[in-house]
Amino acid sequence: MSETEKEKQTEIEITDADAVDTQEILNCGQCQGLIPNGEEIRTENAVFCPGCFHEIQKILHDSIGEQSQNINYLGALSGGIIGGLITALLWWGFVTLTHFQIGIVAIIIGWGTGKGVAVFSGNKRSLGLQLMSIGLTLISYGMATYWVSRTFVHHYFAENSMAGTLPLFPTPALFMDVVGTGFQAFDLIFLGIALWQAWKITAPMKINTES
Ligand SMILES: [Zn+2]
Repeated sequence: MSETEKEKQTEIEITDADAVDTQEILNCGQCQGLIPNGEEIRTENAVFCPGCFHEIQKILHDSIGEQSQNINYLGALSGGIIGGLITALLWWGFVTLTHFQIGIVAIIIGWGTGKGVAVFSGNKRSLGLQLMSIGLTLISYGMATYWVSRTFVHHYFAENSMAGTLPLFPTPALFMDVVGTGFQAFDLIFLGIALWQAWKITAPMKINTES
């Protein structure tokens, strides 16, 4: 073999090695096994062999289904009442201590209620829980608003040497009298945000799969 022929040989070998390098060798992101050419399934973050991909897909589907099964409704109800009550009292405390009736703070009631429902249901998500969540938020928000007004009415009575107290739990008529008078458009916006919080926290998770 002449010198030039040898050079040519080496050149060819290098070119072949390059070709092998650029040809993708794909390992499955799950089992690390080699994936036969053209059988790989690409997701946004990884590449899988068909076997692993279908296995993962099945697990995802099962867990998405499970989120709305075996719901502890009694737990959810208690959790929502507890969460709503705690955050309603926090808001009441904040307003009556600072005298700043910052409506935006009331949205924690939606968060607290939704969180209580979700956690005490066994970390479930469903439409039923969403409806329960916004119903309890509505009640907690209403009670918090009543309790704030009630405290200010009591202050007013005390300052003017007037006798009388409002009950802790009002009749619907009294509720409308006390809450209805001070209710403003702004409060509706905050109530809307609170309800949205409660709705979102208990909303079922969704996944996108192509098949
Ligand atoms: Zn695999």
